[in-house]
Amino acid sequence: MTDVLVRSPGASAPGLRRVVTRLNVREETTMQDHRKLGRELELFDTDPLIGAGLPYWLPDGATVRHALEEYIRTAERRAGYRHVYSPVLGKRELYEISGHWSHYSDDMFPPMDLGGEQVVLRPSLCPHHAVIYRSRSRSYRELPLRMAELGGMYRSEQSGVLGGLTRVRAIQLNDAHIFCTLDQVADEARSALEMIRRAYEALGISPSRYRLSLPGPGGKYVAAPEMWQRSTALLTEVLDRSGLPYEAAEGEAAFYGPKVDVQVVDGAGRESTLSTIQIDFHQPEQFDLRYIGADGAKHRPVMVHRSIIGSVERAVAHLIEQHDGAFPAWLAPTQLIVLPVSDAELPQAAELVRRCLDQGLRAELAGPERGSLGARIRLARLVPYQAVIGAKEAVDDHVALRLRDGRRLDALPAAEVLDRISALVGAHRTDLWDGDAEA
Ligand SMILES: [Zn+2]
Repeated sequence: MTDVLVRSPGASAPGLRRVVTRLNVREETTMQDHRKLGRELELFDTDPLIGAGLPYWLPDGATVRHALEEYIRTAERRAGYRHVYSPVLGKRELYEISGHWSHYSDDMFPPMDLGGEQVVLRPSLCPHHAVIYRSRSRSYRELPLRMAELGGMYRSEQSGVLGGLTRVRAIQLNDAHIFCTLDQVADEARSALEMIRRAYEALGISPSRYRLSLPGPGGKYVAAPEMWQRSTALLTEVLDRSGLPYEAAEGEAAFYGPKVDVQVVDGAGRESTLSTIQIDFHQPEQFDLRYIGADGAKHRPVMVHRSIIGSVERAVAHLIEQHDGAFPAWLAPTQLIVLPVSDAELPQAAELVRRCLDQGLRAELAGPERGSLGARIRLARLVPYQAVIGAKEAVDDHVALRLRDGRRLDALPAAEVLDRISALVGAHRTDLWDGDAEA
């Protein structure tokens, strides 16, 4: 389970204040902005008939989301995760066993009566994954067993707090659960931190702070002092050894265990959790999870919950605001726009678009019927690459490439341009050309 609550920054670290200040300079960017930009750029929208907190994704938004999801799936496959699919519904008993029913029901949709049974829209993926783990007997040789899913979950947010993609009732979560031995927990948490670092680099975002989220007073948390102590010590060690600055915060833990939360701040200074790593001794106990050890006896695994980008909705909202709609090329809905100077170059332009598509690049043709070259370039200002084809380029099979940041390159062979762009996109680079920083 991943906590995706928004909180105002309280006692903020110097780093956090710096980020807030920097973002505030951009004037009123933010929540409103991601909603406004999302609508202007036709990424997503909502309709009262579908309901509050239930946005739909338009083709360009769906393209960004798909690129993001594929990045995550690929990174997870490389890190030894296997993907599963599990249903968004489950019987009430499933959540009674996991503890959600008693600790978390305020955030859950009311159960539905179905043929004498009660089913609920799930508030998290963990219970399904625990059940999948125990669907057959497991050996210590299979551990750490890393189970990942980009799956739906639901939260009964009050209508007053809903907005854009940041507070939604239907959430697509980048989630994973690692079932492992106690000895393996620290390494797994460390590699999850490293996956987060790499993802943020590719996405061009930076955390405002790392937070060690601990339980607070009140009955929100499962009562097992020794378990809390052990998992807190493990996470503290991981953070200390990582060299990352972090702050401990009481009252921010999951009900079943402490967490490392990676926080980001939007333009209005609102802080939220994007990524998280959690250690859980509780649910393995509740679901009676076991593995057969080298000694032939049954042992209890530990569950590490982790999310690299949190909910897809919140991640995309943050990316829209962070980049003002000018996504890194690998995420951009249209990566390359082909601009023939006149109708005479239309055949070569259409052919270039076809070559881009064959090469896996998202390209579009904008011909003279859409206006002057200058007007077309302005319209495509968020597209990372603009390939201009004039009479000379058409004859030579060259393109005059303009980059989104205003740089103009000398005419280059079309094949070379496409290869270089493909390489940058394939490596999830945030710079547009050969290591130069985007202006
Ligand atoms: Zn979980």
